[in-house]
Amino acid sequence: MPKEQSFAQRLIAWQQAAGRHDLPWQGSRDPYRVWLSEIMLQQTQVATVIPYYQRFLASFPDVGALAAAPIERVVEHWAGLGYYARARNLHRCAQQIVTVHGGFFPKTAAGLTELPGIGRSTAAAIAAFSFGERAAILDGNVKRVLCRVFGIAGFPGATAVDRKLWQLAESLLPETGIEAYTQGLMDLGATLCTRGTPHCPACPFADSCVARREGRQKELPEARPRAPVPERRSTFVLITDGTRLLLERRPPSGLWGGLLVPPEGEPDEVLAARGLVTVDCRKLPDLQHAFTHFRLTLAPVLCRVAAPSALAEAGREWLPLATAASAGVPTPIARLIRQVASAPD
Ligand code: SF4
Repeated sequence: MPKEQSFAQRLIAWQQAAGRHDLPWQGSRDPYRVWLSEIMLQQTQVATVIPYYQRFLASFPDVGALAAAPIERVVEHWAGLGYYARARNLHRCAQQIVTVHGGFFPKTAAGLTELPGIGRSTAAAIAAFSFGERAAILDGNVKRVLCRVFGIAGFPGATAVDRKLWQLAESLLPETGIEAYTQGLMDLGATLCTRGTPHCPACPFADSCVARREGRQKELPEARPRAPVPERRSTFVLITDGTRLLLERRPPSGLWGGLLVPPEGEPDEVLAARGLVTVDCRKLPDLQHAFTHFRLTLAPVLCRVAAPSALAEAGREWLPLATAASAGVPTPIARLIRQVASAPD
């Protein structure tokens, strides 16, 4: 792990030598331009943002012009950038700056976070680029860089991991050069330490990055933990007259649509509904089956019945026990049938 101070120094040196220096919003400390670019860059790539940024500035050259514009015009200029709440917040924010702050942006990250649509990381970026404040940014790209360089485990969206990352981001801030440092973090995340295939050999942290050393670039940052798989349990009644098994065709849609399956439900009700005379019933061992979205426990009950009066009714088939498992039944049902066929008593 790199020493804290050397992280900032290395990043600043790399940004100055290999970072981006000619983006249209760089070279200005005007908080209006910085703010506009930061909001546009949320969830949107630089190449997409540039023409929007330029058109927007041409139409709304300062915060007063934006505040005075009708919201419809603002949204028109945003069309195609997506996440339209950003445009509405931008407009509200401009109006608040004019009405509450006399047309001037607050000069601290803390003050900026009070405004609509400006979160902690965006506020820090605006404060760093416009006013030179030592404030930490932590957007998705920066989280990825920090998780990889320092080997931070856990899903970054989890509260405890998020807190740890903010502490780390703050502890890494340089005493001087916050602008190049902040830009360096953004540049590294966007150009080298990318989500898919990071370009590690060109990285200023190539010799110290935990993810690179351990070959875990694809594992870090960790993905959102999967939600627990829902569990379902269902009783299947395997009805046999000793040589045949009753199967019923499922409706075309839904689970196992169109396939032959034993009746599902409480044995007494199932048998009564079909006018069958029960000899005896016994439970068989449960069987688990995993589907994509849930796990099903099949609770089979084997019921012997007196010979049925009709062997084929609409949607119902009495098939030989020995071959029923291969009659177009779902996999777990085939397993149940084989179990019964191999030891019917
Ligand atoms: S060495 Fe690779 S994984 Fe580590 S920070 Fe650099 S680009 Fe990202």
